[in-house]
Amino acid sequence: MSADQPEALLRVEGLKTYFPVRGGVFLTAQAQCKAVDDVSIHIRPGETLGLVGESGCGKSTLGKTIVRLIKPTKGKILFDGADLSTLSDRALKPHRRQVQMIFQDPADSLNSRHSIGNILEEPFIIHGIGDASERDRRVAKLLDVVGLPSSAVERFPFEFSGGQRQRIGIARAISLNPKLVICDEPVSALDVSIQSQILNLLLDLQQEMNLSYLFIAHDLAVVKHVSDRIAIMYLGRIVEMGGADEVYERPKHPYTQALISAIPEPVPGGNRQRQILAGDVPSPIDPPSGCAFHTRCPHAQPKCREHRPELRDVVARTGDEHVVACHFDI
Ligand code: SF4
Repeated sequence: MSADQPEALLRVEGLKTYFPVRGGVFLTAQAQCKAVDDVSIHIRPGETLGLVGESGCGKSTLGKTIVRLIKPTKGKILFDGADLSTLSDRALKPHRRQVQMIFQDPADSLNSRHSIGNILEEPFIIHGIGDASERDRRVAKLLDVVGLPSSAVERFPFEFSGGQRQRIGIARAISLNPKLVICDEPVSALDVSIQSQILNLLLDLQQEMNLSYLFIAHDLAVVKHVSDRIAIMYLGRIVEMGGADEVYERPKHPYTQALISAIPEPVPGGNRQRQILAGDVPSPIDPPSGCAFHTRCPHAQPKCREHRPELRDVVARTGDEHVVACHFDI
């Protein structure tokens, strides 16, 4: 970190989230699924860290572990002076106000039997904020901030379009004035024409509220648009991380290079060579030895099958961090 950069708001250190894989007559644990495997990241106040990877790479599990919807197996989640990884549910309550989540499918995350007014009022009730009239005033303000009419309070989630439902999900996430929001594929389920509206809303709110975002997506083009820094995840591990422009324009990991090559050119007829990745993401229950990417990497050498590369510094143009987990300079 350079001297003029603020201290991190969130610092995740060596985080592991493993799930037991059960089998047999007695459903005993027979293996472990290493969904998040030794991840370290940080996010500064007002900053967006984009987290990219294919489906099943562990990025959503990482987000849910940070907000403690899932208990970590090991590691630290240092947020605003506390280690969230070890706190009881009761001790977590004041911190939950500060760390909120926006989900991919707002239809799943909004209770279909509750009116929008009730959905947005609930966080205030849980945290004992205001009387009924104060809560009504706050709900009306939230609807205004996310661009929905005040009449929405009487209506139910099914009466809204996907984009409007995501606005409701965003209103709920910001209702308690959080510092950090985990955005888990917030535009993936929306039409392309609606995606930019939601992205612009998130960017406006970030400016107004000095929010920090962990922005999770499989679409590197979307992530580049909103992120200050980008982390690339493969089979539960970060394989590259750095400034958004730096990683996008000078990717060092073959996996990042393949993801970027798959982004459609802004100008038809550009000279980007698409790199097709062979095969699917291997199972995190039985990941490949050494570098987990070696089964799909066009540059793999014998060393890659035996030795796992750790993240190492590469020289970045911006002077900010740029790290990559590859044995070679590619
Ligand atoms: Fe490819 Fe080897 Fe680098 Fe892994 S360590 S990304 S297999 S070249």
